[in-house]
Amino acid sequence: MTKILAVNAGSSSLKYQLLEMPSQEVITIGLVERIGFEDAIFNISFNGKKTETIQPILNHSVAVQLLLEALLDLKIVASYEEIAGVGHRVVHGGEKFSKSVVVTDEVLKELEVLSELAPLHNPANITGIKAFQEKLPNAVAVAVFDTAFHQTMEKDAYLYPLRYDLYEKFGVRKYGFHGTSHQYVAERAIDMLGKPAEDTKIITVHIGNGGSLAAVKGGRSIDTTMGFTPLAGIMMGTRSGDVDPAVIPFIMEKEGIDVAAAVNIFNKESGLTGVSGLSSDMRDIINAKDSGNEQAKTAFNLFTKRIADYIGSYYISLEGADAIVFTAGIGENSAPVREAVMGRLKILGIDINQEANQKRGEELLISTPESKVKVFVIPTNEELMIAKDTYAFVK
Ligand code: AMP
Repeated sequence: MTKILAVNAGSSSLKYQLLEMPSQEVITIGLVERIGFEDAIFNISFNGKKTETIQPILNHSVAVQLLLEALLDLKIVASYEEIAGVGHRVVHGGEKFSKSVVVTDEVLKELEVLSELAPLHNPANITGIKAFQEKLPNAVAVAVFDTAFHQTMEKDAYLYPLRYDLYEKFGVRKYGFHGTSHQYVAERAIDMLGKPAEDTKIITVHIGNGGSLAAVKGGRSIDTTMGFTPLAGIMMGTRSGDVDPAVIPFIMEKEGIDVAAAVNIFNKESGLTGVSGLSSDMRDIINAKDSGNEQAKTAFNLFTKRIADYIGSYYISLEGADAIVFTAGIGENSAPVREAVMGRLKILGIDINQEANQKRGEELLISTPESKVKVFVIPTNEELMIAKDTYAFVK
């Protein structure tokens, strides 16, 4: 048996899971928040008990130290040598990485170069990798990329119709994100469909605070809605998704703001928050809509229409679909969103079992036997994917 840590480091947070492999048992799970602050929050759940402490955690290295000490104190491990590998979520792998890799000095240099494409994410991921390397020098460090699964897209799917040298010089193209999640739920759906993987056509709908769809043919991503950055595609909690790019300079001029302020509007003040003027949380939107709030209703309708439109588009790209899969916070939990999206797709012969659609928290088939496309709800598990890829190198 081998213990593997799956890590997701943000600029001020560190999410982790310790798994036993190959049994896939989750031993412990936790989160460090507000790294860099005097009142940082450290939490760890073990044997059904959650412990939370508030203390100064001034950098990621301190966060890792605290986590490792907690693993010893709670007797989750007898020695650090038991942790054979640490798998890190890395947001951007560019065109360089189409699968997970062992982190070497060379790889770290590449990740630093790629920080230019993901300035909000890759530097934090690198900080996390270095903090664990310092404390666990003998564990195999593996980078698992959000972009990797989408590297199978063909040029006609990933290229923007822009001046070609912008792609050649700067790598301006569609990369796509949430790849680990799309791959996980697509693989689960392939299992559930019970037909040869190479014959399957699946549309995966990952809708949480961020959101994206992928068209998956024979287990490979052929298109996805996020783009050069995670701002493109469907409407999200606070992100706009697709808009006419000419809107950006127009708003900058009208509001008298610079590029950073304009980007902030599209990333932080748009989506469900922006349209509803209420909240980025779908639960709040649905409650408000149900009590007659018109703007919340507009936000809900925009949100579901944009998802349905992309499903229609991917149905064409895939030349049909065996299954549509809903996952992530909204996809797994919101029956009204699933119902509204599917209600817009009756033309595809999709028929939802209303009773099954009300359930949650488990893998579900929510379409009727008559439905021309199967509709699944599959809880995502990016940590398990990270642990599996890491374990493959440890072995
Ligand atoms: P995630 O980013 O995958 O963690 O998803 C977080 C989002 O899921 C929240 O912001 C909510 O909008 C949404 N969510 C979670 N539970 C529910 C629920 N029961 N109904 C509707 N939306 C939900």
